[in-house]
Amino acid sequence: MTSESFRLADGHLERAKAIAAARRKRGSCRTCHERGWTGVAQDNTIVLCHKCVDAEGAFQDWKDYVGGIPELKEQYSELFEEAEPAPGENA
Ligand SMILES: [Zn+2]
Repeated sequence: MTSESFRLADGHLERAKAIAAARRKRGSCRTCHERGWTGVAQDNTIVLCHKCVDAEGAFQDWKDYVGGIPELKEQYSELFEEAEPAPGENA
């Protein structure tokens, strides 16, 4: 727990938007209007569009990006702790 709340820098937000757009799986989308995201949360992170974005792929891209930036890697350290897939979880 930290006393001050985290807010993602605008430059990183733009990168997140670019990742979302790049991970879209289909052409037109009425939910996000071809942006790949539907809104920006309080911490300045995007809300991915569930209709057209490959969330796993976007998550992986974001993780790769965060991994190269120490301040973000620290903030998102939980992303790097769960490296192993959960066993026996087939839908
Ligand atoms: Zn969409």
